[in-house]
Amino acid sequence: MNHFISRRNTRVIYVGGIPIGGGHPISIQSMANTDPHDFSRTLAQARALKKAGCEILRLTVPDRESAEVLGALKKEEVGMPLVADIHFDYRLALAAIEAGADKIRINPGNIGDKEKVRAVVDACRERQIPIRIGVNSGSLEKHIYEKYGAPTAEALAESALYHAAFLEELSYRNIAISVKASDVQTMILANRILAEKTDYPLHLGVTEAGGGDRALIKSAIGIGALLAEGIGDTVRVSLTDDPVEEIAAARNILASLGLADKPGMDIVSCPTCGRTKIDLIALCRAFEERARAEGLLDKNIKVALMGCVVNGPGEAREADIGIAGGKGEALLFRKGEILAKIPESAAIDALIEQIKKM
Ligand code: SF4
Repeated sequence: MNHFISRRNTRVIYVGGIPIGGGHPISIQSMANTDPHDFSRTLAQARALKKAGCEILRLTVPDRESAEVLGALKKEEVGMPLVADIHFDYRLALAAIEAGADKIRINPGNIGDKEKVRAVVDACRERQIPIRIGVNSGSLEKHIYEKYGAPTAEALAESALYHAAFLEELSYRNIAISVKASDVQTMILANRILAEKTDYPLHLGVTEAGGGDRALIKSAIGIGALLAEGIGDTVRVSLTDDPVEEIAAARNILASLGLADKPGMDIVSCPTCGRTKIDLIALCRAFEERARAEGLLDKNIKVALMGCVVNGPGEAREADIGIAGGKGEALLFRKGEILAKIPESAAIDALIEQIKKM
């Protein structure tokens, strides 16, 4: 639950059955990184992403064959709406719509001829498919780049509005917008500008964030800062990694702000200090691995792993269940009340057993 965020009121779009905007839960997206022609690998990845908590999956559609793969995935019912990522070629947008795409990501200003834009809009209107305009710092139009001299936040926002105008001219407002930059400050500012100027739902992400901790921190700050201001309706964390990792990161960002639809297990652990009596760092790793392997991470409970009995149970009073280290042993406690004293080597087993009963 969040106690402090007042979400921006936007129009609502529907991607498959998933509402985006208007205060609906913030959906988590990812993008497949398999060969778009390889049906079986893409299906396997879609299933892994779904299992991890992905709610909307984007697939690149660089040619007709990949549009057919998208169509085949739709028939497999992967349990998530599919978004077709199209660059320039309006015929591929039409092929993806025909194949069953639930949303198209395309920048209408790049399509060229107005009649071609109209053909895409007509097909989307007929099937009530939203269009995401996706601007990033590497894709600015020449005239906008020349006006600003750099991919500034103002330039990114103006580019998004430039593309939206092509759709608005055809009275099509079933639109979501993303403005992404690898620079966190630019990304935050560009989204603030759009939040002021439009009522379209916003898809948040820090693009080319990289991998590892740096990427996670960049994404958490960029996406998190905007969400804390009430801006943002759907998110994608971009990592140079297995896309399944993106889902865990997105879930953690949402859960930290009390915005997760299904927050899952909140694990709190102390930073350890001179009073620490057990090998808490190893215990934490072991616990998370076991909890994942046993499928317990979806439980909406707070688990505390504390290094000592002096402050442990007290510090974790708010936790539903936890352990606090003693000399070669651990105290198992629930809501601050001690349940049992267990040898350190059996602490994780005992904790897992208790959690299974919860
Ligand atoms: Fe140190 Fe105990 Fe606090 Fe952990 S709970 S940081 S071991 S005082």
